[in-house]
Amino acid sequence: MGSILITGANRGIGFEFTKQYYEAGWRVFACCRDIAADNARDLNMLGISSKYVTVHQLDVSKNEEIEALAGTLAPEAIDVIINNAGVNGPKQPFGKTDYELWAASMAINVFGPMKIAESFVEHVARSERKVIATVSSRMGSIELASGDKHHTYRSSKAAVNMVTKCIADYVAERGITTVAFSPGWVKTDMGGPGAPIEPTETVSGMRKLIEELAPADTGKFLHFDGTELPW
Ligand code: NDP
Repeated sequence: MGSILITGANRGIGFEFTKQYYEAGWRVFACCRDIAADNARDLNMLGISSKYVTVHQLDVSKNEEIEALAGTLAPEAIDVIINNAGVNGPKQPFGKTDYELWAASMAINVFGPMKIAESFVEHVARSERKVIATVSSRMGSIELASGDKHHTYRSSKAAVNMVTKCIADYVAERGITTVAFSPGWVKTDMGGPGAPIEPTETVSGMRKLIEELAPADTGKFLHFDGTELPW
């Protein structure tokens, strides 16, 4: 089995990734913005009950925390990195954009995945599978976009798509495959109770894709069912 580092592992899609890889026998480095928070309890329980899951403090908007964790895990080979942590915000009508909130979401949704790739490239390069995957969103597709007052979220996911494409080029010579995923509209705190897709379904789909990824797939934007999406 392999090893995987997952950001935003305490709830939603990230927790589902953690559970599924744990159940499949993988070594999981489960990262969580605040390990003392109530919403980290289930993840902490998993970490206590399994020697293959360790829980790590990591706010992806804090470069010093990313660097510190990369140092702590320096001896490890990490097969797969999942940049899952992300935020959406409230709808923002044209003329009333909250720029502070937008900047904060860019730090999490865009700078985080870039800094993680820069800090963990050696861990991934020395592994067998060599995958960096970012959970983006169909809402980041410029071709599919509409003005629905979600321009802050949409632009952050469009930016992380570009970052994914650039990282793919930077690290291809190290044998690393880099992709962006769209998980669909998923029933989580972010997606809400009306979302049609369960976390189990989308994570199973993305795991299958990760399993089947070949170097020729690097730089692709893939829906969780394997369909390639337009940028
Ligand atoms: P949730 O809101 O349920 O969970 C978000 C996760 O990200 C939480 O674990 C949260 O931690 C973490 N997080 C937020 N900010 C930070 C930070 N600064 N550092 C570390 N972790 C952070 O969202 P989902 O599980 O639904 O979303 C996961 C990913 O999937 C996101 O990138 C999202 O954009 C994407 N996505 C989701 C869709 C959906 O329909 N649900 C659709 C398309 C894409 P904490 O508990 O501390 O807040």
